[in-house]
Amino acid sequence: MTSFKNLIRDDIRALAAYHVQPAQGMVKLDAMENPYGVPDALKAEIGSLAAGAEINRYPDPHAPSLKNRLREVMGIPADAGLILGNGSDELIQIIAMALAKPGATLLAPEPSFVMFRLIATFCGLKYVGIDLRDDFSLDESAMLAAIETHRPAVTFLAYPNNPTGNLFDAEAICRIIEKSPGLVVVDEAYFAFSPASFLPKLGQYPNLLIMRTVSKLGLAGLRLGLLAGPTEIIDELEKLRLPYNINVLTQQVAERMLRDFSLLQSQTDRICADRSVLFSELAHIPGVQPFESQANFILFRMQSAALVFDGLKRHGILLKNLSAAHRLLTDCLRVTVGTREENEAFIRALRHLVND
Ligand code: PMP
Repeated sequence: MTSFKNLIRDDIRALAAYHVQPAQGMVKLDAMENPYGVPDALKAEIGSLAAGAEINRYPDPHAPSLKNRLREVMGIPADAGLILGNGSDELIQIIAMALAKPGATLLAPEPSFVMFRLIATFCGLKYVGIDLRDDFSLDESAMLAAIETHRPAVTFLAYPNNPTGNLFDAEAICRIIEKSPGLVVVDEAYFAFSPASFLPKLGQYPNLLIMRTVSKLGLAGLRLGLLAGPTEIIDELEKLRLPYNINVLTQQVAERMLRDFSLLQSQTDRICADRSVLFSELAHIPGVQPFESQANFILFRMQSAALVFDGLKRHGILLKNLSAAHRLLTDCLRVTVGTREENEAFIRALRHLVND
């Protein structure tokens, strides 16, 4: 019997799907979510916004109020182009689709956000990954050599990087932008937890784009990402965006939540303070090596990480096991900074496992 599966492209059949771990009933410290949810002061208003939303109508395809609000709270220059995505995942996909001429390459350091490779593959781009140095810093000369050899249509740099949590050297990034014949997307998914940003450099380089998301800010469930850059590029990408990609509820709720940006900021400030506590707790556990982070998670290395990961799961605590994801991540786990109680529960369980 013919298998209709054979109709699917070979490269898609060879891919492993992006795996989301089941998390029911767990202390969920695996996905870089903000643990706090809608601030109490806004709950009733968000409820009535949802009740009054015209869900029988298509959303505004251009989301003008939301875009204005994003420009204001993020400080996106008025002359920069801005496109919204159903999560920044969708923006990566739009960029990849737009650039997928035969032979085009997408370049990224490794380890980094896995969707860069997955999306490159399913959009038909060649993917080139360049290893970070052992201390997770950017290997600038290897990146520049790869740019010379592969002439990538686009290079993605996560700043801070996921899953390592560090910021790459800003001057090295500038040189990469200058030497690139293609676009360079600085992915600032974790901007809310880091003092550094390339946003002020927008407009200085004709090939620089800045991508952000509101997911880590506390709005992951709304699915909203943004990409700012030169209008001549953004206008082309707009042609690939499906017209109603940002739904009515997302437009209204995100706009309202961002109007009180300081409430979200007080949550992210707290997460940053708790990150320091969590880091020093981890550093005090014998055999645990945490890596400094400018994001809302901490990567750490310890012996038998896979067993520890399973042990934590038995204690009801879900992390991300990255041990097998890349040679530089051997025996590494990633923990998202949760509430103080969640962080304490995690540390307690980890100490218990270490002392067992
Ligand atoms: N970029 C980076 C570096 C990320 O870590 C993530 C989420 N893990 C994303 C982009 C995608 O975020 P979202 O699709 O939720 O906007």
